[in-house]
Amino acid sequence: MLRKKHILRHTINFKPLEKKMPFLKKNLTFLVTILLLTLTGCNLFQKTPTEIHLPFGNPSNATNSTENPNNYLMEKPQYVLSYNRDRGTPNWVSWQLTKSWLGSSDRQDDFRPDESLPEKWYRVGPNDYRNSGFDRGHLAPSADRSAKETDNSATFVMTNMMPQSPKNNRDTWRELEEYSRQLVKGGKELYIIAGSYGSRGKLAGGKVTIPSRTWKIIVVLEPGSGARGINKNTRVIAVDMQNTQRIGTNWKRYLVSVDKIEAATGYDFFSKVPKEIQNVIEARVDGK
Ligand code: MN
Ligand code: MN
Repeated sequence: MLRKKHILRHTINFKPLEKKMPFLKKNLTFLVTILLLTLTGCNLFQKTPTEIHLPFGNPSNATNSTENPNNYLMEKPQYVLSYNRDRGTPNWVSWQLTKSWLGSSDRQDDFRPDESLPEKWYRVGPNDYRNSGFDRGHLAPSADRSAKETDNSATFVMTNMMPQSPKNNRDTWRELEEYSRQLVKGGKELYIIAGSYGSRGKLAGGKVTIPSRTWKIIVVLEPGSGARGINKNTRVIAVDMQNTQRIGTNWKRYLVSVDKIEAATGYDFFSKVPKEIQNVIEARVDGK
């Protein structure tokens, strides 16, 4: 008797469930789609490249509008930059440097035009600097992106290059790059922004401006503190160098305040950092 009742109840309850099945099926498809989107990167909680690489503010208010060709924001997983179409170089490139970006990937050396530029714009090519006497100088260095081959390759697009005097690129600038990686290997977390200004002439038939100066600002944070760890005592290394063959080898000779680079470029660095902190870290010259 009991058994029969049990079976009966199930038989009765099963009919409405069957009716609900198409509805359940639709919902399941919906839920699986959401799950897949989340897993494939459409994650609401994932940080944007700007949040990762440019946490202290956009110094030139670059935007990703083609109406703004000389201050055009380009966000890549590996770095963020402001491109200047008429100069054929970035105004600045900004990137995070932590241990997780460093590894043993080979240098890819695949210099190439940046296909992500708007279609109608001139795309600087890998041979445009040829016979100019200037190097294809990385802003975000190849060796700062050595954890994965794809990340390393991403540094070789021409939107991450500026014409750099061989002595600036291979000696002074390179030694500061190496010093930065040493700081990271010692546990520090860096936020670096670098760029150029001024003109010493043009190359590639006028398509690329040779800058007269190259500058870089490095924020040195304690391990794990993240961008929020910035305070009045934070070490900031800022340099402004001549882009010539007469440059000295020691980058420390070119240390300046951030205020000086702001005056020379018209940019406002650290605009998201409270004024009282900004004023202190921008006025100081590292090591002085
Ligand atoms: Mn270089
Ligand atoms: Mn500022």
